Amino acid sequence: MIYLKNIVKKYKSGSEEISALNDVSAEIKSGELTVILGPSGSGKSTMLNLLGGMDRPSSGQILINNKDLSNFSDKQLTNYRRKNVGFVFQFYNLVENLNTYENVGIAANLNGNIDKVEEIIKDVGLEKRMKNFPNQLSGGEMQRVAIARAVAKSPKLLLCDEPTGALDVATGDKIFHLLKKYSKNEDTAVVVVTHNPEVAKIADHVIRLQDGKIYSDEK
Ligand code: ADP
Ligand code: ADP
Repeated sequence: MIYLKNIVKKYKSGSEEISALNDVSAEIKSGELTVILGPSGSGKSTMLNLLGGMDRPSSGQILINNKDLSNFSDKQLTNYRRKNVGFVFQFYNLVENLNTYENVGIAANLNGNIDKVEEIIKDVGLEKRMKNFPNQLSGGEMQRVAIARAVAKSPKLLLCDEPTGALDVATGDKIFHLLKKYSKNEDTAVVVVTHNPEVAKIADHVIRLQDGKIYSDEK
């Protein structure tokens, strides 16, 4: 379980201050698919960045195993990210000159899962694309490689930023169902930021943001 408590995040932009998040509290559970919905600029990416330890809040707490991420040093945050967090992005961010096996292998190696690479790739349905490079794969296939790479770390937290933003509806649907499958793992919390309200149908938990505040929070 991750607790966000009264999170405020302000950005300085010249002489102005922008409140990206304003008193946001929420609970993110392992074994669940949590979806963060909201219009552009509502604070979704900011929330994901804070959960992933890419940034610290201006005030408030992010409690994970009773430790407060907002007090972590840079080194502790880097460690936390490396060991506990898997990331999936809109544009995949695969290494172009590595094939599917190698892209996933790098991540698996970090957490001693190197002997499981083939199994992980089979699990995302790409057993026939093991030796292909990213430019030989479709968008949906590249996102499957990215998901395989992220789960190869056995992350406690799988953070996905607009994972279907570059995909057609049918392909995007399959990606959401794949993420749903991984969220059933009791050791993993899956958090998806999206513009796509369709995904709310398969989510366990839907948080809607509006102007940096919680607009609704439903299980
Ligand atoms: P979306 O969530 O709609 O894909 P982004 O998260 O990329 O869009 O950006 C949302 C808003 O935040 C935009 O208005 C963008 O200009 C602004 N924004 C994003 N990153 C920065 C940044 N580093 N500095 C200033 N503004 C930013
Ligand atoms: P979303 O992901 O929902 O589009 P963001 O979290 O990207 O929203 O942005 C929330 C607000 O914070 C927006 O007003 C955006 O312009 C601002 N913002 C985001 N990142 C930065 C940044 N690095 N510097 C300044 N302003 C930012």
